[in-house]
Amino acid sequence: MASKSVDIAIVGGGLVGASLGCALEPLIRARSLRVAVIEAAPLGETRLDDYQPSFDVRASAIAQGSRHHFETLGVWSSLAREATAIETIHVSERGRLGATRLSAAEMGVEALGYVLPNAWMGRVLHARLAELPLQWHCPARVETIVPQSGGHRLTLSDGQTLDAALTVLADGGRSGLKERLGIMSHAAPYEQSALIATLGVSRPHRGMAYERFTAEGPVALLPMPGERMALVWTHEQGAEQATLALSDGDFLARLQRLFGERAGRFTRVGQRHVYPLSLVTAQETVRPGLAVLGNAAHSLHPVAGQGFNLALRGVMDLVASLEAGLEAGRRPGDMTVMQAFETRRSRDRHNVIRFSDGLIRLFGIDHPLLSHARAAGLVGLNLAGPLRRALTRRAMGLER
Ligand SMILES: Cc1cc2nc3c(=O)[nH]c(=O)nc-3n(C[C@H](O)[C@H](O)[C@H](O)COP(=O)(O)OP(=O)(O)OC[C@H]3O[C@@H](n4cnc5c(N)ncnc54)[C@H](O)[C@@H]3O)c2cc1C
Repeated sequence: MASKSVDIAIVGGGLVGASLGCALEPLIRARSLRVAVIEAAPLGETRLDDYQPSFDVRASAIAQGSRHHFETLGVWSSLAREATAIETIHVSERGRLGATRLSAAEMGVEALGYVLPNAWMGRVLHARLAELPLQWHCPARVETIVPQSGGHRLTLSDGQTLDAALTVLADGGRSGLKERLGIMSHAAPYEQSALIATLGVSRPHRGMAYERFTAEGPVALLPMPGERMALVWTHEQGAEQATLALSDGDFLARLQRLFGERAGRFTRVGQRHVYPLSLVTAQETVRPGLAVLGNAAHSLHPVAGQGFNLALRGVMDLVASLEAGLEAGRRPGDMTVMQAFETRRSRDRHNVIRFSDGLIRLFGIDHPLLSHARAAGLVGLNLAGPLRRALTRRAMGLER
């Protein structure tokens, strides 16, 4: 079978690859850019009118900055149907007096961010992609990627080959393609895992999200529609097995003891899933004809809710760099364009990684002096308006 030539091949149609496909629309239409998206997993339902919210669905915190990007992509009005606004974030530490609140009212905005079911985000993005004139290979796996003059040749599991001027790896970092190109990653395991589940709560959450730092690790609760909250409960590696084995009643009782009653009584828990946690960063994110995005470039601790938000800013920066390059007569994949993209990205990426990693390490160290300093920090933060507002701007995805 003859090889097809494309300007951009996106490997992976998950949240990041699908967002990139949507963000490329203006360039596809104005510049006749040829774009292919290759996704290994068979696509589920993409109709928007028969979506049934499930108690067990996974959800993500989407920063205010990401909402603006989704508006640019033309998908926010659909996403908003299933979004829950985060009006306040309550940060506390178990056993200490300190607590701080980051509030939308104080920032003069309607919400600090939103909680969106991942399944709904996927459905809306894929429905949008289906309206665009791009090549959609699904289910198809990219099996090999080989550098060649002017880009890379990709071999797909359906027997097709694609010659791409720019290949974007948005494969979540688990396909081995990056390593086959000799791009190594730096992995720093937290020796923790995240147990996630949906909880029923006894009283309305009124848009409040919680982050509670405990000796065992941080616990986050995000507001969802109805009297439900999304739980991210960090455990020391191995300890999650005992929690997984608890009956629903014992699970709820143990969580209640750890978390207290600030969010009400926990009344129900759905399916529990566990994710081992590491900070993984690719040592290279651009090469001639290649960009690495999303989890393939950086996988962060989920407690600060920053991974996808950071990735979406990467998507928007890549498209802006490609557009500027095309204006200047440069092909997608030209190293000047890739370098301009990396220059835009590196500071934001560095700051977000330092912020979320620093948060985990600061609250993870069990030293009495540090605990006092943290408590003082939280109380102080509650008093010190400008510092708290700066933290809030970062949580909103407005600070780079
Ligand atoms: C417990 C948890 C909670 C989180 N909460 C938040 C949050 O609140 N806010 C936030 O911003 N972020 C959050 N994150 C991070 C967020 O989930 C990730 O940043 C995001 O899912 C990354 O998406 P991705 O598209 O890069 O990767 P993935 O979601 O892994 O998608 C990769 C896609 O590529 C496809 N693929 C893989 N290999 C191939 C191949 N060879 N060929 C073709 N296709 C391929 C896969 O099928 C998949 O669809 C959380 C993460 C975890 C683990």
